Amino acid sequence: MKKKMLTGFRPTGKLHLGHLHGNISNMIKYQKDYENFFFLVDWHALSTEYLNPENIKSDVIECIIDLIALGIDPVLTHLYRQSDIPQISELTLYFSMITPLSWLERCPTYKEQMNELKSRDISTLGFLSYPVLMAADILIVNSDIIPVGEDQLPHLEITREIARRFNYLYGKYFIEPKEMLSKATRVPGIDGRKMSKSYNNAIFLSDDFDTIRSKVAMMITDPKRIHLEDPGDPGICNVFDFYKIYKEKEIEEIEQRCKQGKIGCTRCKEEISGIIYKSLEDFQEKRNKIKQNLNYVYDILEEGKKQVRQIADKTISDVRKKMGID
Ligand code: SF4
Repeated sequence: MKKKMLTGFRPTGKLHLGHLHGNISNMIKYQKDYENFFFLVDWHALSTEYLNPENIKSDVIECIIDLIALGIDPVLTHLYRQSDIPQISELTLYFSMITPLSWLERCPTYKEQMNELKSRDISTLGFLSYPVLMAADILIVNSDIIPVGEDQLPHLEITREIARRFNYLYGKYFIEPKEMLSKATRVPGIDGRKMSKSYNNAIFLSDDFDTIRSKVAMMITDPKRIHLEDPGDPGICNVFDFYKIYKEKEIEEIEQRCKQGKIGCTRCKEEISGIIYKSLEDFQEKRNKIKQNLNYVYDILEEGKKQVRQIADKTISDVRKKMGID
């Protein structure tokens, strides 16, 4: 039997490069090796978008189109929507009974997001308990492997702690999922912070060349470089982070040409804009074709719902018995 791999995406708009290099690239690369669970976390989206939830439903569809166009094969992957699996919310409830508040309050991403998203009131129970819902997402299918970026590691650790605590209290049932870190674990946004739609710093997979070029033009490079021949420091350059992703084999050469002042920042930006756009051309063509046939997308979601509900039913039935309420 194949091991299970699971990953979820927030349907808060179109996918961006952070999603692609964060974990979709791993999902595509390894989709033949695992039983895959790929789902859109519309309940997670509500934790920050509860005041303006009207786009979540259409964003789910847009994301599914993006995923298929990128190469996620619906035959090899259960593609589904979180809210189509009500058993996840029941498991969240059981986990919330055994999760100490301190585990959630000390979570570094919770503190970080509270600071970063000051314009929204996210001091809610739903936002604090986000990692509990994430644990239920993962453990409802007892997934073995989770492709994550480094920033998601604390959440995954809470999932393992919850699984451990459940197993200790009620007898062994859940496996402790392992992370699969992708090479480009942290994709910076155009302002150097983590790429995120909430930070308004993302390059979207559907951006055309002019949009990509104008976004790259805003990236921060070494501010001490004034003249073309001034030596640069690639370590503090946002554009260089993208070279690391797209020109891995030539990275030492690129580093040297920067340090020796052999190329200007404007030329670097032109070059990286072209590289990013070229890497997305095929995807954009496929995406347009899928959009012409939305019934195909709805059928995939329906099938995913059917398959995952069967697995989730079994988990919930076992959990109720283990906890002594059934
Ligand atoms: Fe960055 Fe290129 Fe400028 Fe060096 S030359 S600071 S790598 S943009």
